[in-house]
Amino acid sequence: MKNIYGVTLNKLSEYFIKEGQKSFKAKQVFDWLYKKRSNSFDEMSNIKKEVIDKLKQDYNMDNLKILTKQEDIDVVKYLFELSDSNKIEAVLMRHDYGNSLCVSSQVGCNMGCTFCESGRLKKVRNLETYEMVLQLLQVEKDLNIRISHLVLMGIGEPFDNYDNVIDFIDIINEDIGIALGSRHITVSTSGIVPKIKEFSKLDKQVNLAISLHASNNELRSRIMPINKAYSLDLLMDAIKEYLDKTNRRVTFEYVLLKDVNDKIENAIELSKLLKGLNCYVNLIPYNETSHIEYKKSNQNSIMQFYDTLKKNKINVTIRKEFGKKVSAACGQLRANYKEE
Ligand code: SAH
Ligand code: SF4
Repeated sequence: MKNIYGVTLNKLSEYFIKEGQKSFKAKQVFDWLYKKRSNSFDEMSNIKKEVIDKLKQDYNMDNLKILTKQEDIDVVKYLFELSDSNKIEAVLMRHDYGNSLCVSSQVGCNMGCTFCESGRLKKVRNLETYEMVLQLLQVEKDLNIRISHLVLMGIGEPFDNYDNVIDFIDIINEDIGIALGSRHITVSTSGIVPKIKEFSKLDKQVNLAISLHASNNELRSRIMPINKAYSLDLLMDAIKEYLDKTNRRVTFEYVLLKDVNDKIENAIELSKLLKGLNCYVNLIPYNETSHIEYKKSNQNSIMQFYDTLKKNKINVTIRKEFGKKVSAACGQLRANYKEE
């Protein structure tokens, strides 16, 4: 039996047609699920009982279990348990412009970035589409809020779970459902080149963020093993293709690791690499993890790096730090959780 929260409007319409029903029933179900936020098929009073009975045979509405929740002023961090008892995280951040949710896309991650806590656990499996949709629905319900922005920056590599991630974006973006605007959705990838190309061809206004973290192959391969499969030149070619096709701007994430990639010469090299591209750089102060060989850059280096990019006419911002009290780096909550 499938979970109803993983079914796109298109697929639900096809289901109803196959069942000999009118396809608009799918819209009615979407309205109940995502506008009225109904928790039971039995409440869907404008749908005939025989249709409801069939729906109940084919789909469940099971929720995820909230295992723990840690709160700070501007952040709420959730640890969810999935039905097979795997654990994933989602983080709600309160910005002045709205509520932004960071969701996970896989249990663990195979990319093996040497500074990242999520990668400590190798990929166990991809998240199903419904497991991503429910992170959003359950946080909204738990806090009684609406989420205005969504980033795929939790545990996992979204482009290593491409089809489910695209269905997930489809569902939350659907006008007659949650209707989260595509320009308010950002998918972040460590640089899986074939999927960046596939993504370019989709006619979606979703934001793309690239985890760059280094501006030459030697350094990037050292901290991000994916660079051995897709080197910087292949990555930059794919990004240029994306920019040409979509006319959009791309975000480069650059986590500042003390004495590793935070020197002025790194900033100069980065400026050269990005010169002329329609992009901006998001500098991320490192959140220290159990990878004790990596430290956060000091404030001075962060500012110098920022100034150097500015001077070289690269658009740049420094990411606001959230939830120091609640071990906010992705993967940390799961890593610190001990079974009772
Ligand atoms: N796997 C995807 C998305 C999840 S990681 C990717 O790598 O892009 C989201 C971002 O957080 C990435 O840019 C990642 O490099 C960064 N990140 C990982 N661990 C971090 C840490 N401890 N401190 C700060 N940023 C971190
Ligand atoms: Fe995976 Fe992203 Fe962490 Fe790299 S930074 S190990 S790709 S989650």
